[in-house]
Amino acid sequence: MQFAQLTQFFEELEKTSSRKSLVQILARLFAAADANEVSKLAYLCQGRLVPFFEPLEIGMGEKMVAEALANAYGKPRQDVLRRFGELGDLGLVAAELAGQTTIEPDTLSVDDVYDALYAIATTAGSGSVESKVGRLAELLRHLDPLSAKHLVRIPLGRLRLGIGDPTVLDALSFARVGDTSLRKQLERAYNLTSDLGYIAHVFWQEGIEAVQHIGVVLGKPIRPALAERLPSAEAIIAKMGRCAAEPKYDGFRCQVHKMGGDIRVFSRNLENMTDMFPEIVGAARTQIHAETAIVEGEAVAYNAESEEFYPFQETTRRRRKHDIDRMAEELPLRLFVFDLMYVNGEDYTHCTYIERREKIAEILVEDTVLAVSPSIATDSAKVLNDYFLDNIQKGLEGIVAKRPDTIYQAGARNFNWVKLKRSSGGELQDTVDCVILGYIYGRGKRATFGAGALLTGVYDPEKDEFVTVTKIGTGLTDEEWRSIRELCTPVPERPARVNSLIVPSVWVEPTVVIEVLADEITRSPIHTAGKGGDQPGYALRFPRLVSFRGADKRPEDATTVAEIIEMYEAQRKKLVT
Ligand code: ATP
Repeated sequence: MQFAQLTQFFEELEKTSSRKSLVQILARLFAAADANEVSKLAYLCQGRLVPFFEPLEIGMGEKMVAEALANAYGKPRQDVLRRFGELGDLGLVAAELAGQTTIEPDTLSVDDVYDALYAIATTAGSGSVESKVGRLAELLRHLDPLSAKHLVRIPLGRLRLGIGDPTVLDALSFARVGDTSLRKQLERAYNLTSDLGYIAHVFWQEGIEAVQHIGVVLGKPIRPALAERLPSAEAIIAKMGRCAAEPKYDGFRCQVHKMGGDIRVFSRNLENMTDMFPEIVGAARTQIHAETAIVEGEAVAYNAESEEFYPFQETTRRRRKHDIDRMAEELPLRLFVFDLMYVNGEDYTHCTYIERREKIAEILVEDTVLAVSPSIATDSAKVLNDYFLDNIQKGLEGIVAKRPDTIYQAGARNFNWVKLKRSSGGELQDTVDCVILGYIYGRGKRATFGAGALLTGVYDPEKDEFVTVTKIGTGLTDEEWRSIRELCTPVPERPARVNSLIVPSVWVEPTVVIEVLADEITRSPIHTAGKGGDQPGYALRFPRLVSFRGADKRPEDATTVAEIIEMYEAQRKKLVT
C-alpha cells in the first residue's frame, strides 16, 4: 500500500465525526492491506508505531519538526515558525510548503514511511537531534502535500482521527465480515494482550479461529480484571454467597511479567513502569520461583519497622522519572500480590481464584518486597463486616470480595470481584473518574486562570465516545485551575469522540482523567451520559474534584456510562429502603 493512499483515508477519517462512518472508512483501509501492513495501520491510525504499552517515542517536538520542514523545503526556519504561528498546525504548514515545491513526489509505501519513522524513534545518543531532523526532512522531500500534512502530525502526537481501540476492533471485524459481529472475539484477544497490531496480524494471517486461540503473551500486559461496587457486607453476601475477601490496599496496581531475568512492570493503565521500581524488579527475580510468570498486586509504600502503610499521597511519590534510587530508599514499596495469570508456559486466566491463589503460594517466597495479600473465606455477613472494619482500623481502604470459583476475566468489571470501601457519609458510595472535555471561561479571579468550570464526561465503550456528565466549578485550588491549562490540550472543534449538547468556551482533547466526588446522580436532559431517544441523560450533582488520575488511568479507563446507571439505581434502592 502506498503511503499516499493511506493519507487519503486519514483525510476522510479526519472529516467525519460519525462513529459509523469512522468504522466503515477504517474497515475499507484495513481491507486493502495485507497481514504485515494491517498491524502497522492499526498503530498508525492512532498516531503510534507500536502498541501503547511499549515505551517507544518518536521524540520530536514542534521545534525539531519545524527545523525538518525548513530543511526539507529550503526555507528559513523563522518563516516556517511564522507560518506555524498563523496556521496553528505544522501539518498545514507542511502541506503548504510541499505544495510549493517543484519536486515530483515518489511513491513511498506505508512500509517505507513506517520504517523511516521507526528509525527516527530509535535514534538516540549524541547527534540524535540532527539525525532525527535530517531523516524527517528526507522523508518529507518524497511526499505529496497531503502525505506531508499527516506525516508531521505523527511525531507531534496531533494525528487526531478520533479512533479509540473499540473502533479499531469494530473496523477489523467490519473489514472481514461486513459487520461488527466478530467484535466480542477480537475483544477477548485484546483483553488478554492489549495489542491491536498483534491481533490484526494474527487475524489477517490465520483467520478468526487463530484469534480465538490467542492467550496470554509474556511481555504484553493483560487488561486488568476490575471490581464492581456494593454498599455493605450484607449486600455482598446476598449477591455472592460464600466468598473470599482480601484487604483493599491503597497504592497502585502493578502487573509484573517475569521472563527469565527480564522483568517488566506495568501500571493500572498498562504503561511500562519497570524503571521506576527497581526493588520490585529485583524481588521478582529472587522471590518468584518460576522461569516465567505474570503476577499482579498492589504496591504500597510500607514501613517495615513500624508495620505501617504510608497513605496513598506518599506512595504515589514513587511514580517519578528522576531520583529513583533515593526515593526507593526513602519510601520502599511492598507489593501485595493478589493474583497470578501465567506460570512457566501455562495460562492461568482460565483457572479459578482458588487455583490461582494456590499457585501463588507455591511459587512466591515471601520476603520484604513481595508479599501475598491475605485472604479469608466466609459466607457470614457479620464475619465479612468485622473483617472490613478490621482493615479500615489498620488504615486500609476497605476490602475486595472475590468469588472463589471464577476465572480471571481480563478487562471486565463484574461481580466476580466486589469492592467495599470506607464510605464518605451520605454521599455517593464511590467517586467517579471523569474525563475533562472542555472548559468554560470564568468570571472574576478565575478568569485570570482561563477556566471557570470544567465540562467533564464519562466513557461509553460500546460507542467509543465520551459523553458529558457534569460541570465542575468547585474543589480546585488556584494552582489546580492553573494546571488545567497546562494539562489540557485545546482543540479548535469538538473532538470526534466527544458527544455533548453543551458547547464549552474551549474544547480540549479528552485525555485528562480526574476523580470526582458528587452528592448524587440525577436525570438531566442537558447531559449526554446515558441519554437515549427522548430519555434524559444522567448527571452528577454537586461535583467536586478529588484528585488528578492522569498517572494511572487512560481516558478509556474512566467510569463508564453503565457504571453511572448502576450507581444511580443503587442510590435509588438506598432511598427506598
Ligand atoms: P478501578 O481500578 O476498579 O477502575 P479505581 O481505580 O477507582 O477503580 P478502586 O475503586 O479503589 O480503584 O478499586 C479497585 C482497585 O483496588 C484495583 O484496581 C486495585 O488496584 C486495588 N486493589 C487493592 N487491593 C486489592 C486486592 N486485594 N484485590 C484486588 N484489587 C485490589
